[in-house]
Amino acid sequence: MTALDQLIEALRRLPGVGQKSAQRMAYHLLQHDRAGADALARALQEAARNVGHCERCHTFSETPLCPICQDRHRDARLLCVVESPADQAAMERTASYFGYYFVLQGRISPLDGVSTREIGAAQLLERAADGQVEEVILATSFTAEGEATAHVLAEALRARGLRSTRLARGVPVGSELEYVDLGTIAHALVDRRST
Ligand SMILES: [Zn+2]
Repeated sequence: MTALDQLIEALRRLPGVGQKSAQRMAYHLLQHDRAGADALARALQEAARNVGHCERCHTFSETPLCPICQDRHRDARLLCVVESPADQAAMERTASYFGYYFVLQGRISPLDGVSTREIGAAQLLERAADGQVEEVILATSFTAEGEATAHVLAEALRARGLRSTRLARGVPVGSELEYVDLGTIAHALVDRRST
């Protein structure tokens, strides 16, 4: 395989990128932006080497504890559960949530063989039982799988005597949190309901 073919193959691993877009990206970088190609290669290598997961909330982090978990001014009584670092970022951009987070490794999807174990439910239950958390806010997406995930987690939390709430129904059905506008998320947060 030529170097060009290898580059196209590598680009095709990205979500939503097919053969044609991969080719277009590769040609663009090689024809018009060699400096950009170098920068991209370096950034990828750096990130792949240095970005790990926060040992407390499991979001991406370059230090054992992420900056949010290190922030002592947050409200330790609130723990917000999201599906991905992207959803966590959306939540942060609303500037209306001041508790801590737990970032799942996706959501339950029986058809794809993704169970509570794969998404890190056990770690969540352990994290939520730290004696300080009083409310677990389930901010999984409003897709069928996100709802199922919230339901299973709510049951598991209840079984351990932990209270959970769910974002209110202002968020359109079928939505991924990261694509919902910030005002809607902020309202859904304020109007959250008991599970
Ligand atoms: Zn963290």
